[in-house]
Amino acid sequence: MTISNNSPNMTATAIPILDLEPEIDALWDELNAAFQRVLRSGQFIKGPELDAFEREVADYLGTAHAIGVNSGTDALVIGLRALEISEGDEVITTPFSFFATAESISAVGATPVFADIDARTFNLDPATIEPLITERTAAIMPVHLYGCPAEIGPIMEIAERHGLTVVEDCAQSFGARFVDANGGDGMAMWHGKQTGTVGAVGAYSFFPSKNLGAFGDAGLITTDDDAVAEHMRKLRAHGSLKKYHNEEVGYNSRLDAMQAAFLRVKLPHIEDQNAGRRRVAETYNRLLENVEGVVTPLLTPGHVMHQYTVCVLDGKRDTVAATLKAQGISTMIYYPVPQNRLPVYADLNTPCPVSDQRASEVLSLPIWPQLDEATISHVVDALTRAL
Ligand SMILES: *Cc1c(COP(=O)(O)O)cnc(C)c1O
Repeated sequence: MTISNNSPNMTATAIPILDLEPEIDALWDELNAAFQRVLRSGQFIKGPELDAFEREVADYLGTAHAIGVNSGTDALVIGLRALEISEGDEVITTPFSFFATAESISAVGATPVFADIDARTFNLDPATIEPLITERTAAIMPVHLYGCPAEIGPIMEIAERHGLTVVEDCAQSFGARFVDANGGDGMAMWHGKQTGTVGAVGAYSFFPSKNLGAFGDAGLITTDDDAVAEHMRKLRAHGSLKKYHNEEVGYNSRLDAMQAAFLRVKLPHIEDQNAGRRRVAETYNRLLENVEGVVTPLLTPGHVMHQYTVCVLDGKRDTVAATLKAQGISTMIYYPVPQNRLPVYADLNTPCPVSDQRASEVLSLPIWPQLDEATISHVVDALTRAL
């Protein structure tokens, strides 16, 4: 497949950043059966579909409690509230994430404090966390960005030493696992565990473009703590576990039965889907190996490649993106403005030089589990020419 710059059929051969159709086609009959089952059941909120999904996903993730909510953002907010994080508290997090990460901290009345990132993994650099700890610090919130597990060992060690809780933002890392480089020699309690099951609370998003995506908004919170789980169940239902017995101000945050039924169809395929993403990333990395001017992502163990993100060096990122766009190849920039640079945090002026640098270089290329080698090769050729 070749597309010349002046091809009249550019739209016919356009390459999106993400194509959900192959998976929908493959699961068409099962999804339709789930849809009809819920329609006929007459139970659209709560009920057996949600109960079954919560059990199945808790089993898959290896967590005691999995609680469905309306979105990943709500999962973070309710998780923080259930841990009693509130006004006066500081939460150390990464600047290099979607705004929902810091927004959730602000939403509960606490203050986000931005540490810097590691230039190769794009995740929190543990060495930048400790200098920011004050007597107000209550928690650390790592994000497993692009599906890459954060450095949980050092993060948990810092948290334990200072008596802090850890809330994991797993919106981009469903199915990712922490893998100890030493193979888990018995010291690393977190070796082999799913992201979101090591910190006090894990927050997941099933936004349609995430690795496990619903067909609408949905999210999930995990915890091994029975009391925290009960508090989260209360908060998602207007602060009540018993009808007309509201004990505190909560939220209307539900994972509806239809989305739960769709997610139950998709969950058994997540390992295959994530393996497909890793295959695509391996192909990209191989084809880009000798291309000057781009840094390819580290395919760390346990990474689920939510995004395939390269760094385009020498100030060429935006022209490269525009050149690819003109050839019908979609790319995205996650994220052009780090959270600490957003207008809402103009008064929180933490310097995060690595994050600033990467924000000017990152470019996410098309990736989905079924993306074929010919298309990947076409994207790589276009990228190489654009450089
Ligand atoms: C998508 C995302 C969220 C928010 O999830 P929603 O379901 O869209 O509310 C939070 N954090 C990160 C890192 C995300 O990518």
